[in-house]
Amino acid sequence: MSAKKRLGLHSLAIRISAVFVALVLCGIGLISTIGYSEISKTSSENTAERVDRAARTAAAMLTFGTGQLLKTNFDATGQPVSLQLTEDAPERELKTDARLHQLVRAIGDSNGGAARLFIWSDADQSFEAVTPNLPGSDEALTNDINIHAGHAAYTDLSGGVPYLGSIPMAGRSRLAVFLPIVNTDGNLFGAIEANVGWLDELMVAENRHHVRIVSATILIVAGVILLGGLFLRFELRPLRQLAGAADKLASGTQPGKIPHTGRGDEIGDLANGLERVTDLQDKLHKLAYTDPVTTAGNRRRYFSDLKTILRKANQDQISASLLHIDFTGFSKVNDTFGQQIGNRVLILSYTRLAKVFGPTALIARISADDFCILLPNDGNGSLAKNRAIKAIETLSEPFVLAEGEIRVEPSIGVALLPRDAQDAETAHRVAGLALRAAKEKESHRYEFFSAPLNERVQTEMLTETLLRSALKTRQLKLHYQPQICPVSQRLIGLEALVRWPSETRGFIPPSEFIPVAEKTGLILELGHYVLQEACAQIASWISKGFEFDQVSVNVSPLQFRQPRFAEDVQDVLETYGVPPHKLCLEVTENVFVDTSEQLVLDILSALQKIGVQLSLDDFGSGYSSLIYLHRLPFQELKIDRVFISKADEDQQKEQLFQAIVGLGQSLGLRVIAEGAETAGELSLAATRGCSGVQGFFYSPAVPPEQLLDKLGEISTGKRRAQVNGLDSRA
Ligand code: C2E
Ligand code: MG
Ligand code: MG
Repeated sequence: MSAKKRLGLHSLAIRISAVFVALVLCGIGLISTIGYSEISKTSSENTAERVDRAARTAAAMLTFGTGQLLKTNFDATGQPVSLQLTEDAPERELKTDARLHQLVRAIGDSNGGAARLFIWSDADQSFEAVTPNLPGSDEALTNDINIHAGHAAYTDLSGGVPYLGSIPMAGRSRLAVFLPIVNTDGNLFGAIEANVGWLDELMVAENRHHVRIVSATILIVAGVILLGGLFLRFELRPLRQLAGAADKLASGTQPGKIPHTGRGDEIGDLANGLERVTDLQDKLHKLAYTDPVTTAGNRRRYFSDLKTILRKANQDQISASLLHIDFTGFSKVNDTFGQQIGNRVLILSYTRLAKVFGPTALIARISADDFCILLPNDGNGSLAKNRAIKAIETLSEPFVLAEGEIRVEPSIGVALLPRDAQDAETAHRVAGLALRAAKEKESHRYEFFSAPLNERVQTEMLTETLLRSALKTRQLKLHYQPQICPVSQRLIGLEALVRWPSETRGFIPPSEFIPVAEKTGLILELGHYVLQEACAQIASWISKGFEFDQVSVNVSPLQFRQPRFAEDVQDVLETYGVPPHKLCLEVTENVFVDTSEQLVLDILSALQKIGVQLSLDDFGSGYSSLIYLHRLPFQELKIDRVFISKADEDQQKEQLFQAIVGLGQSLGLRVIAEGAETAGELSLAATRGCSGVQGFFYSPAVPPEQLLDKLGEISTGKRRAQVNGLDSRA
């Protein structure tokens, strides 16, 4: 499962939690707000009631305490609004009336605060306290007692209206209620104050209340979040487990048994769905990583295993070996017996390999007849060596099928990991290089990758780069080596041999770069270039009246097998206006390697149809199967240099040479002896009836501009002494 999807699932859980918590919080918030406002209301009502009660008490006490000297006036709602003298009381009397003072004091006591009586002074326009030095619970209450303009209660009281509210006192505020006292005719007489307490103390009590409410709310919210979170965590656990499984599934790892599949709810549905996807992925995985023919791993499996092994190897945890097996000539099996039989051989090969390498080896078929095997825990490659020998032995045993006995020729390249490579691509490449080296061996065709091998490859790579650019800039030159009739000294033909001019090395011989070109496929381009150059030369010679039978051009097996090869040859002939019989194509017996006889025959027939001549080069040096010789449309047989070399000095060799020449002649072929270097060898070629000799005795390959001089040398007899002798004997 991708991080994005996982995030999605997590955010779903988060969203559910958030909605849940938000709802709970809203509920708590609502309840708290209502409670808070109710409590606030109650506490302010309490304060108001306290003040109201103080006012009523004061009014009642003064009314009854003074023997009805004062009566209370109420408003429409029953609230006391003023006190009124029932008879005219002299001001002084009131000021000194001890009973009144006691009464006022009792009023103060009953309110837990203080009470004071004031007489209005018209002269001062202020209320003068008549109960000074009022003993109270608080000394501060006795200060600043007269009510002047600017006092909080002054405006209301002087207007004959009661005042309820805070009044400043001793730097603080006190809650008090003031009732005006009017005389019998309604004029302002004074005021009574019932003082109920310090306002900040009242506020503190109220605030304490609020703090308690808020703390309780916070505690409840925290509790809800905690419990809700735990609950959600518990409830979402199956979802998280399934998300983890999906995650593994998405990253390509087997999630194992999917939990909660037995549940009957939505989680169960999800788990079952996931299980089905896991099964499907399992099947797809197997398909994607298995070779359908052999059931071994496929190329993808191989590279994946290789990467895993290299990762471990690079962490110094293991060392391993990589074996790359290839069968030389396997395509022949397919060509000859058909693909089905070819597949059977591959299946049987896999069975044999599995037996040799055992269950710990990781075997994969990466292309037609290429198997790659990873052997974990093979420290010094001794296991690889041992198994490679066994594998070659076992695979070399013929496969006995109803259709016949089939043999394959295995070769194995070995790379040690991490010694030879740290990454998969390099590992595969170096094992391939070792395989290539193994294929070049005559026997024990397995090879370990090594530094010299690598060096060789580096050189080859450099050669390839340089050769590529040499081809592009048309630097390669053709030299021509004459083929001379050893009896008549007549020029029969010329072989075109490619040369690579180098500023430092003169001409680089083809033996150095043709094999590289063949390995890299560059030979196709090179072959085409040589064909063009040779045809251009043939056309030029014809136009100049130079006489020769044909010019031979070497064709490499890869070039020969190209489906369009015959057409290409025809195109080039036409382009340069060369009569087809003037061109002879030389192929070696190597064209039979990896190609069925039938295919070779088809290609040769196509070339024959065009009218070019065909020559079998280096005869006897390689894959010699005499059986095909008579069936294939060659006109010429070129006997490999090894057969003539010193054959004039060795009777057995001479007989062998004679037999080969005889074979060619009996098939009606023109026989050319290659590589005659001495007069003795030339003489042998002449006496045994070779049609032509191509060798250093006559001339090496020379540039076209030196050719006439060379031919002049030959015809003037410098190189015919012994042959002449032979002529006279004949
Ligand atoms: P090849 O086709 O068998 O050519 C004959 C080789 O033998 C030439 O070597 C030639 O120089 C050499 N040779 C001829 N006479 C003597 C002799 O008396 N003594 C000795 N020691 N050698 C002699 P070269 O030119 O080095 O070519 C080597 C091989 O390279 C050729 O063998 C051919 O297989 C390949 N080659 C050369 N040019 C081409 C080409 O244009 N295309 C392809 N595909 N292969 C080429
Ligand atoms: Mg040749
Ligand atoms: Mg040759």
